[in-house]
Amino acid sequence: MKLQTTIDAPGSGTPEWPMLVGGEWVPASSGEWRDVVSPARGDQVLARVPEASREDLDRAVAAAREALPAWRALHFRERGTVLLRIAEALEGLAEEFAVLTAQDTGNALRTQARPESATLVALFRYFGGVAGEFKGTVLPAGDDQLQYTRLEPLGVVGAILPWNSPLMIAAMKLPAALAAGNTLVVKPAEDAPLTILKLAQVMSEHLPAGVLNVVTGVGETVGQAISEHPGIDKVSFTGSSQVGRIVGATAGGRLAHQSLELGGKSPNIVCPSAAAPDVIEATAEGVLLAMRFTRQGQSCTAGSRLFLHADVHDEFLEVLARKVSALKVGDPLAEETDMGAIINATQYQQVLDYVEEGKAQPGARVVLDGSRDVPDGLSGYFQGPTILAGVANDWRIAREEVFGPVLVVIPWREEDEVVAMANDSHYGLAAFVWSRDLDQALGLAHRIESGWVQVNQGGGQVIGQSYGGYKASGIGREFSIEGAIEGFTQTKQINVKLGR
Ligand code: NAD
Repeated sequence: MKLQTTIDAPGSGTPEWPMLVGGEWVPASSGEWRDVVSPARGDQVLARVPEASREDLDRAVAAAREALPAWRALHFRERGTVLLRIAEALEGLAEEFAVLTAQDTGNALRTQARPESATLVALFRYFGGVAGEFKGTVLPAGDDQLQYTRLEPLGVVGAILPWNSPLMIAAMKLPAALAAGNTLVVKPAEDAPLTILKLAQVMSEHLPAGVLNVVTGVGETVGQAISEHPGIDKVSFTGSSQVGRIVGATAGGRLAHQSLELGGKSPNIVCPSAAAPDVIEATAEGVLLAMRFTRQGQSCTAGSRLFLHADVHDEFLEVLARKVSALKVGDPLAEETDMGAIINATQYQQVLDYVEEGKAQPGARVVLDGSRDVPDGLSGYFQGPTILAGVANDWRIAREEVFGPVLVVIPWREEDEVVAMANDSHYGLAAFVWSRDLDQALGLAHRIESGWVQVNQGGGQVIGQSYGGYKASGIGREFSIEGAIEGFTQTKQINVKLGR
């Protein structure tokens, strides 16, 4: 079969997008297909993808194992060059990737999909560039000794991806694993597999057959089989903490390597100095960005618990609400849209349920109500930004990951109090601190139990930084050469006696 990698206008038939196994584009062995539904147009089936089974996964693992010896044996420059060529090709198709991302995920083209497509290119380029940094050490043990280490690949990596920003998550794993000499079996999320298939098409034009395999299918079947498969040496999972626990227990049960990038409920702490007249607008813009409103809040790093100092509480909230209410919810493909659609009906209902429960709590105050009409001509899952004030840190809406455009506001007075509330969470992925006082900002940053703290900015990860969670937000680090070494290699020590 051949893969067509763009979506035509509705009504022009539903294309079938095969998956990549052993260098071939194939349907599921059962012949079954699964609909991929547009988040923005709930009645449009964008494409069908193979409903893979364990048998299909077995074939993919066999192909990845077969391709492993030659791939790992290459000079690092050759693997690096391949990744750089892929980056080049992806850059040439950046707009196509952005459009497909908007169609597949419901994320807005301008605010989300284009930046994600650019990050994809940047991460391939970064890992292509550092492919020679997977290097070992030599112990200064005397002239008659050569005691050195090699950082060897783990083998076949099984990568399980979520739907919220599939290309960016894939780019954290795929080029890093390949640069280190591993081969791959990738499982995209059921709800957003199309950009991953398109990525596989580009990559497969530069990689030997079997080095990359993509198997589409449901989590309980293909995902579970990846965690269990004895031919998979490492499971690299990104998704919810709930599923992460299952994956961790299953892969851990057979002592496979694993890394888990999981959920979050990140604190966003505003100190009085960050709400001074000359910076209040910039801080509010930053908080808006940190909350990931323009990805409908569907981000593991969303700063969804806003801790506002009591002295600036009302004033700051007014500025923030003004900015947030100006966001335009609409067709993900339209240039003027700031916020697109929520991924599916279940997720949409879950967001509404959290909001209803939060509103019903005594003392809750609706600052901004996101229930809006669906934009004209669209029939998907749209929810505008919602801000609830007067929230207590122990309410369900302040403890659990809503994964929607819902910000809860909690007042504070003392630093010890806000640190205690920020850390009173089973999550620890990201955090944001807003203060013009450097001692205060860094003091807070050091006390927060979180894998990533940003000070006076709310954007996304910087290429090359360490990224990963504390507590139930995960195990392992990505985005950096350190993370890739830790996550995709194992150390072999070789001790040699010289001079007989
Ligand atoms: P999910 O946990 O429902 O699914 C993630 C992936 O796991 C999907 O491919 C799914 O098919 C698969 N899966 C489901 N059941 C499985 C099983 N039993 N065994 C193996 N795999 C299985 O998550 P989602 O709804 O796709 O994504 C949203 C979640 O991902 C949120 O909790 C979000 O915070 C998290 N996330 C984390 C990061 C991060 O970097 N920490 C990034 C993005 C998303």
